[in-house]
Amino acid sequence: MNEAALCDFYGQSALIERLEADFRSGQFVHAYLFVGPRGVGKRSVARLLARIALCTGADKPCGACGPCVRFLTDNHPDVHTLRPEKSLGVDDVRELIGALQLRAFEGGLKVAFIERADRMTPQAQNCLLKTLEEPPDGTLFFLLTDAPSALLPTIVSRCRQVNFHPLTQEQECARLARLGFSPERAALLAQLSEGSVGEALAISGDEGYLPLRERVMRAFFDLRGPQDVLSAGAGLKEDKENAERILDILERLLRDAMRAQAGLGRVAEASAGYEAFAARMELSASLRLLEQVALARKMRGSNVPFATVLEHLLLSASKEIHQTCQR
Ligand SMILES: [Zn+2]
Repeated sequence: MNEAALCDFYGQSALIERLEADFRSGQFVHAYLFVGPRGVGKRSVARLLARIALCTGADKPCGACGPCVRFLTDNHPDVHTLRPEKSLGVDDVRELIGALQLRAFEGGLKVAFIERADRMTPQAQNCLLKTLEEPPDGTLFFLLTDAPSALLPTIVSRCRQVNFHPLTQEQECARLARLGFSPERAALLAQLSEGSVGEALAISGDEGYLPLRERVMRAFFDLRGPQDVLSAGAGLKEDKENAERILDILERLLRDAMRAQAGLGRVAEASAGYEAFAARMELSASLRLLEQVALARKMRGSNVPFATVLEHLLLSASKEIHQTCQR
């Protein structure tokens, strides 16, 4: 699938049409902030727009000119991508800015993609801010994030913000069916991925996802109280490689429970404890728990060991969940 087809597939066709028109007519600003959950097409749209801006062909993006070919094979010398695993430090940003200050190799624009921009440390953000305020000639920034609140307001205000929205479950089911998933599988994937086709495909291709979800669900929601925290965390703590996924899954379980409470469907594949939580929880409890997950991510960004992060999270969760389930 080419990028334009992908963008349509993600359900962002109206948004992309507007942006494409801006870029074709050269009416673009130097920094964009794409905000939306993972897997809804932010990256595909950013790449498509960058290609339009770099293309020297007539029908942009032509896919055949030098810049297009080099872009598509990840060999364009004026395209820089930062894609942090955990956090993005000031040195990475400095290096990027250094590269952007050089003359463009191809004589055109220089493009910087900063994926998961919220993972920039405050220092890194301050360093980037100066460049966003006074960008070197001919630079184009795409900052991508699913957590804009982790960005300094000054960074946000220097960028043109574009919001990406997830699909409804029906829309997502229909798209997954087009890809050949059975109706039952499509319905489950749509529920687990919250309107994000990219996430649905990632989950579907990942055999470990459902078993891990089950473990997270049991560890957090089948707790009987703080006394269970140590035993509940025992299996997960060692799973450092899955730390991010564990936090993602917990966050998703909480949002799913909130949706179920609001009468927007039922929770999928639930354990007894999770089902009870979803039926009885109060909105404020879920919001407090979501805050705790955000805090856990911050702790990880500051290199706190995952075992400590998880224990902290389980302790605060055990209180809320226990209280909810006692009602
Ligand atoms: Zn081209």
